[in-house]
Amino acid sequence: MALPRLKRILLKLSGEVLMGNQPFGIDPEFVAEMAKEVKQARDTGLEICLVIGGGNIFRGMAGAAKGMDRAQADYMGMLATVMNALAMQNALEQLGVHTRVQSAIQMDAVCEPVIRRRAERHLEKNRVVIFAAGVGSPYFTTDSGAALRAAEMKCDALFKGTSVDGVYSADPKTDADAVRYDTIDYDTVLANNLKVMDASAVALCRDNAIPIVVFSIREKGNLAQVLSGSGIRTIVQGARQNSQGTREGA
Ligand code: UDP
Repeated sequence: MALPRLKRILLKLSGEVLMGNQPFGIDPEFVAEMAKEVKQARDTGLEICLVIGGGNIFRGMAGAAKGMDRAQADYMGMLATVMNALAMQNALEQLGVHTRVQSAIQMDAVCEPVIRRRAERHLEKNRVVIFAAGVGSPYFTTDSGAALRAAEMKCDALFKGTSVDGVYSADPKTDADAVRYDTIDYDTVLANNLKVMDASAVALCRDNAIPIVVFSIREKGNLAQVLSGSGIRTIVQGARQNSQGTREGA
């Protein structure tokens, strides 16, 4: 089963991949490694929209669990994603890759607001566009932000680089019988509540026929492998897409 031909992708990186071996925060060495992988992908001619989570700094749910107001904590989480976006922008620009950060929470002194047409222009000019602050609203995650930007920027696929190498039938850390899927359809992911992305993100991808590719970003060179069609990953797409290997309506 193949992905559609890729011209433009949305790459979502969990915040935790920026913290390297630290328990928290940003490790500039790891950010630099991630930036190299992004540059390599961009150098193949792909247009890249990037979304980075904030879990290495702050998650709203964690704040709420300790008694904070959930919305207030979520706004703090969104601000964390802006810090990560700026760290990635810095690392990419040190490699000579031109970038723009667009934030769903307006922050004029440090980045642009999200303006789709302007983002289109950046991509045309070979810039990487980093979308920060998720959807800009509490009670969402950056996975939903990634799905939303993938849809509005008409990306051919959403690549989710995280610390696991795909979608499993159960948690592989706690269940020795857990198996990794090669491909799986959106509805099975939703019906079985499989841990890929939050349900709203999966549903948005399903409704817009955007394949989701879940892979581990922790191994060096894995992004390039997965983009070239090899490498360990799980592809989530519609049942018809899975059997035909094309995007519905494509
Ligand atoms: N967040 C939010 N709305 C959004 C995106 C993010 O409220 O549209 C908050 C939420 O609190 C979340 C935090 O920002 O926990 C960090 O994002 P996320 O947990 O998605 O980061 P990741 O797990 O990918 O590192």
